[in-house]
Amino acid sequence: MSEALDTLREQWLTALAAELPGAVQLRRELHQTPELSGAEAGTAKRVAEAMGIEITPVADTGGYGRIGPRTGPSVGLRGELDALPVAEATGLDWSSTNGAMHACGHDVHLAALTAVVRAARGLELPYALVPLLQPREEAYPSGARDIEEAGVLGAQRVAHVIGVHVHPGVALGAVSTGAGFVNAEAGELEIEVAGQGGHGAYPHAGADVAAAVAQIVMGLPEMLRRVVDPMEPVVISVGTIQVGNGAANVLPDHGRILATIRTTGPGTTERLVEAISRFAAAQAAAYDCTGTLRHTEGEPALINDHELVEVLDAEIERAELRPTEPMRSLGADDFSFFSEVVPSAMCFVGVRSAGKASLHDATFLPDDGALERVARTFVAGYLAACQRLEAAGVSGE
Ligand SMILES: [Zn+2]
Repeated sequence: MSEALDTLREQWLTALAAELPGAVQLRRELHQTPELSGAEAGTAKRVAEAMGIEITPVADTGGYGRIGPRTGPSVGLRGELDALPVAEATGLDWSSTNGAMHACGHDVHLAALTAVVRAARGLELPYALVPLLQPREEAYPSGARDIEEAGVLGAQRVAHVIGVHVHPGVALGAVSTGAGFVNAEAGELEIEVAGQGGHGAYPHAGADVAAAVAQIVMGLPEMLRRVVDPMEPVVISVGTIQVGNGAANVLPDHGRILATIRTTGPGTTERLVEAISRFAAAQAAAYDCTGTLRHTEGEPALINDHELVEVLDAEIERAELRPTEPMRSLGADDFSFFSEVVPSAMCFVGVRSAGKASLHDATFLPDDGALERVARTFVAGYLAACQRLEAAGVSGE
């Protein structure tokens, strides 16, 4: 690692400390005025204003900036703009009053990123820093996908992207990076079952859509077992079953199953979708019904780059935080649309939340120090990315 990076780290962390009081205020302001996915224009505008740099709009309500060298490769730092349709129950005097809530900590991420950018403005950055203000993390269509498809990474020559997310499952003071698989490839399955309806007293004269739907739901775990290596994590959870209109004596003519599918291996989703499609059709046919499957792709698997994580863990220690065990889950984050195209890393910063509230809970409230730890992790991520660029012999301009 170059001496210049050592100096930069020291200067940056000092400048960051001076930005923290302002960031705490900004966090509270954002927390009090959350905006839902797709409606984050006000949040993007406020954050841009607070960063004090030019932000170019992208992906409807999102934006991105660039500081440091005007040309050459850059490092992207991702901040999510959206809140959730959750009625806040933290009891804070700066609670949201509009029915939405920053229950996923995105207010903390945005305020931390703002402090990091503000602190970096007076520094000599070896590579450009590109803050990505990303809309629609919590809903489809994915804001990360839209930013990627708009060509921002290519045009800004983003070589690595760093994502930081607060997490109550990680110990306080610890940061989980974890090389390799972090989050699942996600998608949705919709199975439609149709057949001749009729009178419940004469089942032999009609088809039995309700029974076919029930058999298909119960058979899904069997399909997993038939198709996926037992060593590979995968899950299908049925969230909705619709059949009938409330009558006890009517054979319905139509039913619908909605399920989420989470996989971790290459090609697993395709193989499962093909098998479930066959299974649904055959199972429905046994009841004289038709069964058709529709698959909607969600996020790709989130993979943290091995080489980047190696240097990142050392940088996290230099930022006086503690690298810890990987946080792997079958959850999904659309950060994977970035990590799919450039070597990237998603970091989970441990937070304490009163009452052990989990992410998306109406009482989720990261402790006050979370802001500084998230900010330091962003700085560590940027510096680690610089080390990778230096190692690759790439110059900043
Ligand atoms: Zn989140």
